Amino acid sequence: MARIQPAFMDGNLDRLSGHRNETGWHENKLNAQTSQFAVFTADKLIVHAGPAGSGGVKWHAYSQLPRLMDGVDPVFLGVDTENTPYFVAQAENLELPVPEGLIALDLRSIALQGLINDQDLGLAAQARALLHWHARHRFCSNCGGGTIAGDAGYKRVCENCSGEHFPRTDPVAIIAIVKGDKMLLGRSARFGTGMYSTLAGFVEPGETAEDAARREVFEESGIRVGNVRYVLSQPWPFPANLMLGMVGEATSEDITIDPDELEDARWFSFDEVRSMALGTHPEGLSMPPDISIAHHLIKRVLDGKS
Ligand SMILES: [Zn+2]
Repeated sequence: MARIQPAFMDGNLDRLSGHRNETGWHENKLNAQTSQFAVFTADKLIVHAGPAGSGGVKWHAYSQLPRLMDGVDPVFLGVDTENTPYFVAQAENLELPVPEGLIALDLRSIALQGLINDQDLGLAAQARALLHWHARHRFCSNCGGGTIAGDAGYKRVCENCSGEHFPRTDPVAIIAIVKGDKMLLGRSARFGTGMYSTLAGFVEPGETAEDAARREVFEESGIRVGNVRYVLSQPWPFPANLMLGMVGEATSEDITIDPDELEDARWFSFDEVRSMALGTHPEGLSMPPDISIAHHLIKRVLDGKS
């Protein structure tokens, strides 16, 4: 069944962000009888998989937790409408034996294969981005001292200089470029055979998302972009990006690709892109899978909903 929106958007717990810095609050939540824990073992999440998104994260009780990674306390995700607290924990960096009926798999494969429900997929994205940040920020970027987690996992504090560090989210501009009834799509050498997608790049310091999109498109394809409209965003936890989806109008037509970035870029008629979406393109070309924001930006243009 086709997804009606990108993956990773539906983790709808209450994050209680106004409470996370209260003294003793994290410990209280951790010790609540009902607390539930997702577990990553290395970079793999433990889930019970089911067809068509019928599976879910394996939520562990505190007593079921494996040995956790030193210095990475469970990170608070939020509470549900019953006030049940949810956390994510990082198992010691070992391949755990996974109990019968469960699997441990990387999050991208879990999403691509549609193994778990959308709510848990959203929580898994939040969880993975936070754990990744903790694992790579154990030392202070100011003085090099060791850091410890605070605010239920939403900051780290340096034990030497008391500097505070907060989880990062890196904005990426991603844009469907249109000219009349044609769309600009490109492919990088690392894409699967025949797949074409919208162009994208990181937003740089001191730059608007719209200008980042214009710059990336020009650098990669030589196409000038005029009007840009913001459409939607998507958390993309590989490792911690926020995709800012836009549609833009080209003001030029001649393509000059940057071979360091792209293997090819072309103007495709909307009809041709429809055939790519349906899997009936005569050259076997395809567009990105429906977990991605690129897929939904392209669909919105084709459906006239951008
Ligand atoms: Zn420091």
